[in-house]
Amino acid sequence: MKKKISILGSTGSIGVNTLEVIRSAPDRFEVVGLACGANVALLEKQMEVFHPKIVSVGTEAMALSLQQKFPHVEVLWGEEGLCALAQEDCAELVVCALVGAKGIKPTLAAIGAKKDVALANKEVLVAAGAVVMPEVQKQGVKFLPIDSEHSAIFQVFENHNRSAIEKITLTASGGPFLHRPKETFSSITPEEALKHPCWSMGKRITIDSATLMNKGFEVIEAHWLFNLTPSQIEVVVHPQSVVHSLISYRDGNTLACLSLPDMKAPISYALSYPERISTEVARLNLAKVKELTFLEPDHEKFPLLKLSYEVAKKGNVFPALLNAADEVAVEAFLKKQISFIQIAKLIEETLSSYSKSLPLSLEGILEADSWARRKVGELI
Ligand code: MG
Repeated sequence: MKKKISILGSTGSIGVNTLEVIRSAPDRFEVVGLACGANVALLEKQMEVFHPKIVSVGTEAMALSLQQKFPHVEVLWGEEGLCALAQEDCAELVVCALVGAKGIKPTLAAIGAKKDVALANKEVLVAAGAVVMPEVQKQGVKFLPIDSEHSAIFQVFENHNRSAIEKITLTASGGPFLHRPKETFSSITPEEALKHPCWSMGKRITIDSATLMNKGFEVIEAHWLFNLTPSQIEVVVHPQSVVHSLISYRDGNTLACLSLPDMKAPISYALSYPERISTEVARLNLAKVKELTFLEPDHEKFPLLKLSYEVAKKGNVFPALLNAADEVAVEAFLKKQISFIQIAKLIEETLSSYSKSLPLSLEGILEADSWARRKVGELI
């Protein structure tokens, strides 16, 4: 039996890689649903190859014109379309590869419909982990990480030795500015920040990698996924991105997961779990890699990493504020409205001016999210 899969965000970097994994294992997987935002041209090509039963696009106008070209496919649109697609009866596994907080509701919709979820959209856990994880437990679904570090942890996680875990170590490539002097950070351009040394990814996550905000988000993501305290999660810079993460157990043994940096490796594991399938991922040859180096993160240059630990400890809606503020600040940086170092300053200012006390519910989280967006907008 083929596993039936829907992909939310099929035209982004993770979506495209997921479809490549599926295409290389046609006897194992079948695509039933695809959703994109604005890149309908690519979605159409994907529809011709993978023949989904149902698709969803950003706007009603896009949906109407797509429906005319594909009369036998159910075409939906907007947030409701994403949620309906996530709940679609025949899908067994939903790949959540949207970007930002807009993935929260569709992910919850998939879990609520008892679908297994493969999560790439880390902001869902950063902002709403407190709501999402209890729902995962309640519905008894599999919740599989695609993020390479979390996939690595998941692969070396000994469930029966959960209480023997001392700490986990998330590796960070360090981004394009690892060796750039701090004094020159104010002149960093979006073009420079978009050149990631190891990974080819979407714009938001590439900027987040350049500020190390991405690693901060991953600390919060790991806290929710593996039920660890922030103090059990450490970050080490590892420029080659070959060791994806490690778990240290109390007997002094540390387990790591290694591969060349190719998202198809963690994606294939999330799709095929608990089995492993053959992939065309380039094989690791350590003698060719030669050197694996590790260093402490520079908190002076990258203040957002430390901030995310504070936010993780504070909990409540603070992680949602952090995510929303970053989303808006990164957009403003890409539009050249603010400088690179102002991204962190705006986020810090937004968080420190928050004084409300909201109940920790989906509504509270979404309200905090909109508040932070407005606040950063005002500050800009
Ligand atoms: Mg990652």
